[in-house]
Amino acid sequence: MTRVEPAPAGTPAGGRAFAIGLRNRFRGVTVREGMLVRGPAGWGEFSPFAEYGPRECARWWAACQEAAQRGWPAPVRDRVPVNVTVPAVDPERAHAIVAAGGCATAKVKVAERGQEEAEDLARVEAVRDALGPSGRVRVDANGAWDPDTAVRMVRALDDRFGLEYVEQPCATLEELAAVRRRVSVPVAADESIRRAEDPLRVRAADAADIVVLKVQPLGGVRAALRVAEACGLPVVVSSAVETSVGLAAGVALAAALPELPHACGLATMQMLTADVTADPLLPEGGFLSVRPVEVEEESLRAVEVDPAAWRDRAEAACAAAGEVFGAG
Ligand SMILES: [Mg+2]
Repeated sequence: MTRVEPAPAGTPAGGRAFAIGLRNRFRGVTVREGMLVRGPAGWGEFSPFAEYGPRECARWWAACQEAAQRGWPAPVRDRVPVNVTVPAVDPERAHAIVAAGGCATAKVKVAERGQEEAEDLARVEAVRDALGPSGRVRVDANGAWDPDTAVRMVRALDDRFGLEYVEQPCATLEELAAVRRRVSVPVAADESIRRAEDPLRVRAADAADIVVLKVQPLGGVRAALRVAEACGLPVVVSSAVETSVGLAAGVALAAALPELPHACGLATMQMLTADVTADPLLPEGGFLSVRPVEVEEESLRAVEVDPAAWRDRAEAACAAAGEVFGAG
């Protein structure tokens, strides 16, 4: 008779894979997939996007391991302000999303392919109207504008509706720096930051006033805190559209940052059609509470899939970790 040893806590061998539908297409997919592991410190999420290889996944796995094995640094606040996100919808829908969101800050998608500039203006106007004069409106172009268009649109939107900042108006660091020199509205870098060394490049290029940081691609909460400190720019913590387990790591980062001058992009649970806990990390009155997330067996089972491929990905990420993080 073969005796089956239980997998050590928090290792790939014990991982539970999930596949959860997205309400709207995100990064070209309609399902968000990943793996959860439980270790002595709690649950961790490993959900790198499909196109990422082992070297890139190593940081995502490190973030998962930190959550499962070690836990997070002590928070300096017990709740985190979050923004409501407004996709490239018509003004009536935009107004309704903001009114229902209960957040004091809204992030509005602009520069959508196939839409007119007038549509951006009308959408931001509706959002400003829904928020009132004290609310903050930020716009996100996802790198789609050229510098001249960015300067013209940012000035027009700011003059008429007032902007907190513009997120990734153009694709490259050079373009961001050029826009930043020509507008008074702060510039935030999001897509320009995909790896731990990127925030320092952003800073060196004078390309942004604010950096958008995500826990999993940076290798965990402590790694992200080190990046934030080295970079020295204000941080907006954002999610990688995770389950509440992954979102809790983002909340832990936002809760541990010495300063948090802007609302975070962590109110993304609603983008998924299901969660793995009975108590999802959803905003109340524009804030997420800083609290642990317990996976509920019944909820996880409802979205569970064969873990073999995910365990292999995690093993490959472990194997690549030495190379990525170095011997020290
Ligand atoms: Mg963005």
